[in-house]
Amino acid sequence: MGTNKELESSLQQLRLLNQVAKDITSTLGLEPRLGFICQSIIDIMGVKGVSIRMLDQKTNRLELACACGLSEAYIHKGPVDADKSLAKALEGGPHFVLDAYADPGLQYPEAARREGLVSVLSLPLKGRTKVIGTLRLYTGERRAFTQDEIDFLSALAAQGAISLENARNYDTLEKQDKAKSDFIMMMTHELKAPLMAVQGLLDVMQKGYVGPLTEKQKELIARIYRRIDSLMEVSTDLLDIYEWQTERPDTQSISLSMNEQIQRAVDLFKTSAREKGLTMDVDLPDEDLILMGSEDEIEKILNNLITNAIKYTPKGGNISLALSASGGSVVFIIKDSGIGIDDQDISKVFDKFFRSKGAKKIDPYGKGLGLPFVKQIVEGLGGTIRVKSEEGKGSEFILAFPTPG
Ligand code: ADP
Repeated sequence: MGTNKELESSLQQLRLLNQVAKDITSTLGLEPRLGFICQSIIDIMGVKGVSIRMLDQKTNRLELACACGLSEAYIHKGPVDADKSLAKALEGGPHFVLDAYADPGLQYPEAARREGLVSVLSLPLKGRTKVIGTLRLYTGERRAFTQDEIDFLSALAAQGAISLENARNYDTLEKQDKAKSDFIMMMTHELKAPLMAVQGLLDVMQKGYVGPLTEKQKELIARIYRRIDSLMEVSTDLLDIYEWQTERPDTQSISLSMNEQIQRAVDLFKTSAREKGLTMDVDLPDEDLILMGSEDEIEKILNNLITNAIKYTPKGGNISLALSASGGSVVFIIKDSGIGIDDQDISKVFDKFFRSKGAKKIDPYGKGLGLPFVKQIVEGLGGTIRVKSEEGKGSEFILAFPTPG
């Protein structure tokens, strides 16, 4: 039986293996996984430094992916050629050098000496079909690794390689996804200028500046105009969502009184509600309920929900808005006595472009982009949104936000 220290060290090794195995299926990006692996090896093995290099197939160079315990000067000593350095490790087995400075295989012996590196152990990171990089441990004294240690590190490198391969694929997918949305948004933006120009020309025709129009021609031009309007609205909505997604990381969150925000939104919409023959009730608590967010975000949430309530509630109906504090959350409920949503559709209302049959009858030009956007913003603020509804009776949207601590 081993000593307490040996047992503790084995336990740590197992914990790390277990963690890296779990990481295989996680969607964490590449960088946090690498940092975690490098630092854990330093802690467990008591070595001076650890580096992970990924093989660039095109240049046959080992590009640094992560390093711990090594100076900037050493890390950036120069390009690491896969053939000269780490050749053994790349072939598939661990490679050990007891005295790095004296070993002819080392590409930068002088840099290693300046850094105070003595022994170096290199292990291959074997992906599913090929070696994808190397894991290197550096010590500050002559140190021979035991077979147990090499076995542990080989197991870790095997698990880590699969995890890193997944992370790399995940990062690539994310980049492709971003490039795709950037492209779509650029196209959407570019489309708006010619669409506006077409509208301008239609306007000139409609006003009779290029000669009198027949009734049929006027009707057709009006239809074209409406279609273009609708396309412009989708473009504006999509650009709005995109802008919010890209700018969100830099948006400053401030303390906002939800009471004030709601009152302001109600003031904005009360005339259009009255004109449609709807009553609007507001129930705000005496104390100010605070949310962390930006005015623009809260405005977008409230405007979307109130516009929908007005749009989907027939004449004579009622809309009520209520704010309260409940169970550590700020709860906002907007309820209407409108057309409601049937059971089949209720799970789809937060899907992009979804619109119910009843909604299309009321407003043929809606886009089905408002609620998905509202949901994204609410969740971005750490909140939740759900809906209760009965067809023909009305709908209720319930939003809960964490109370700032
Ligand atoms: P849009 O209003 O442009 O259709 P939204 O994303 O805001 O887009 O809403 C998506 C769909 O959810 C609507 O088309 C409608 O079917 C349903 N919906 C949203 N709000 C209400 C409401 N207050 N009452 C009934 N149905 C609603």
